[in-house]
Amino acid sequence: MKNAVSVSVTLFLTAVFLVFLIKPALFNPPSVNPDHEFDTARAFQRLERILGDEQPHPVDTDSQDVLLERLSAEIEALGFAPLIRDEFICDAAYGRVNCARIRNILFWVGEPGPDAILLASHHDSVPASPGAVDDGIGLAVSLEVAAILAEAPAERPVLVLMTDAEEMGLLGARAFVARDPLADLVSSVINIDARGVSGQAVMFQTSQPNGHAVLSLASTARHPIATSLSANVYDMLPNDTDATAFLDLDVDLANFAVIDGDYYYHTPRDNLANLDRRSLFHMGASAIGAVRGFDRVTGEAEGQWAYTDIVGLFILKLPEKVAIGMIILGGVLCASGFVRAGGGAPIRTALLPVSALVLATACAFLPTSLIDLIRSDEAFAFANPWALRGFQLAVSLFATLACFKALLRTSDPLRALAAAWTWIAILAAMLSLFMPGGSILFAPSLALAGLGSLCVWFRASVIAKVLFVLAGSVLLILLLPLAHFAELALKIDAAAPIVIIPIMLVLVLLPFLIPRPVGGLKTYSLPLAVLFSLTIGFGAASFLVPAYSAEAPQRLNILHAQEAGEEPQWSFRTAEQLPAEFSEIAPFRRGQLTRLGGERYLAPAPPFEEGVIGARVEEDRIEGDGRTVRFVIQADRADQVIVRPGNGLPDASEVEVNGFQLRLSENWDISCFGRACRQLDINLSLPASGDELDFDVLIFQYGLGPESQTLLEARPEHSIASQLGDIRLSTRRLTTSPET
Ligand SMILES: [Zn+2]
Repeated sequence: MKNAVSVSVTLFLTAVFLVFLIKPALFNPPSVNPDHEFDTARAFQRLERILGDEQPHPVDTDSQDVLLERLSAEIEALGFAPLIRDEFICDAAYGRVNCARIRNILFWVGEPGPDAILLASHHDSVPASPGAVDDGIGLAVSLEVAAILAEAPAERPVLVLMTDAEEMGLLGARAFVARDPLADLVSSVINIDARGVSGQAVMFQTSQPNGHAVLSLASTARHPIATSLSANVYDMLPNDTDATAFLDLDVDLANFAVIDGDYYYHTPRDNLANLDRRSLFHMGASAIGAVRGFDRVTGEAEGQWAYTDIVGLFILKLPEKVAIGMIILGGVLCASGFVRAGGGAPIRTALLPVSALVLATACAFLPTSLIDLIRSDEAFAFANPWALRGFQLAVSLFATLACFKALLRTSDPLRALAAAWTWIAILAAMLSLFMPGGSILFAPSLALAGLGSLCVWFRASVIAKVLFVLAGSVLLILLLPLAHFAELALKIDAAAPIVIIPIMLVLVLLPFLIPRPVGGLKTYSLPLAVLFSLTIGFGAASFLVPAYSAEAPQRLNILHAQEAGEEPQWSFRTAEQLPAEFSEIAPFRRGQLTRLGGERYLAPAPPFEEGVIGARVEEDRIEGDGRTVRFVIQADRADQVIVRPGNGLPDASEVEVNGFQLRLSENWDISCFGRACRQLDINLSLPASGDELDFDVLIFQYGLGPESQTLLEARPEHSIASQLGDIRLSTRRLTTSPET
């Protein structure tokens, strides 16, 4: 008997371990349906033509000109008339001013009019990436959806917007919201973007209240993926997409993204070869579904829902307050079921779930801390997250089982189950206080567990057990995706708290397998030994696996710096590993650059062609209680210019950049992106003071020149540029005092 219990406990815990170990493999987009109205092949071919030779195409660059021509040609080929808004704008956000010449592209599908649905994406990429997914997927989907709607029109007008400079502070979207007359016609927005390069299309953010957005997806989309918890979590993160700007329009908004495949996000490998057709299809099917959905829900009264998809089959939604009520009621019923169940050992049984949840979650932090002590590489689990994931899981399951061994003494498993569900209800209620959208993930299973507890009152223990098994299964179905997306959002190094999900599942299912108080060593020795072996095995693997690989390369941008008055240097951040290949080319050592913060690897480098650079103060004058400082910067090869005030600058009250005026209240930097910044005229209006003022001028050229070819060729396969990519930096310093 004890042997049978011991074996079944071992098998069960091993199964939990395996499911959570391999969970990323369980969340794939649906396969392409060739009969669906969204023609994935046609959408992909269109994107191939638009991206051409797959050059990065950041805002206001030569390569962007080419891309915009090809994009306009595709829009015209579909029979639409593209409008291009070409303007120089600035926007203040997070204590910095972003400026660029932007070109938003818009076109109407069908007749223009009010109450329009806006289908939005962005056409710029980061300088390091061809942007086939970010946001090529948005362009491809928008064009194919427009083609579908041209054949089978929506009832509401549909406006397609492809913004510029999303990657440089959402400038295009902010310009549309603040300055485009068409913005007033929009009342619903579907935004399509990428926070990774693969995986499912997730509706991860909505406007509040969310009734219309949820209904739009729930009513028509195929394979909908969404949860209200992600919308709550996203609101707390500093990340932004164009949707952040669109929310200022007070519209119904559904924000879609692919969020898997972090390895290649914002790198040269976000390219067509790595674009998963399934992700494209899933995004397309979700977007056309959302358009049709918004078409239906217009005018209806709107509520605030807690919602989640059920394995992509449909959207389950409840009014937020109802979901929270179900959690509380379920918790009360479970607590009463605990009292009614009997079976002895009430205190130990009540303490078991909370001890396991606290102890096992705490233990899950140990692996990362331990490896951090020994390994020098910062992102040691990047290429092989399975090792650390397995280590965290094995340690926490071991701790959970140890709690069962120490505390499980009741002779009635229903008592242990009721105790576990009561604690889960308490946790779920606490979560719902801060993130009410999370209530939907617990409400259905707690309703079932509450019913099971009612059966305990009527001594219908078989029905009670069936209901508790159902409750546990529903909890698994709803929480497994949460575990997956939470690990994507947190990154594996910070993902230890996620083990709380498998621990909950063990608490609500394991008591079924241990029918009587069997505290003896024999029952627990086999499963504990297996979990211990897994801990050792995956622990050893975590120490040994390489941090990076060719498939999961480290991000390493080479900076070729030529600071005013200094020798030129090659440089990169010390968070990255110094590749041995680089050491053979130049004697890299640790140090700092004069005008950029942070410790870096530095090595002497040959000079590069800066082109003509001029930076001079044209005017510095006090008049009344104001001081005007005007300076002009010329840099005929610049791709980006940053002007950063040095010491002693009061908060500027107003700034004018190339004629664009902006009020300021905080300390600021000005970042100007693109060719329009090669001639900068900056006019500052400051409170009067006679102080001497300093400004650092940082001039960036994207990419490296021929003088860095040896270094570029030596870049190992497991290192890759990202975001701004490799860069040439020149600096100047401006100092000024007011004329007297
Ligand atoms: Zn993007």
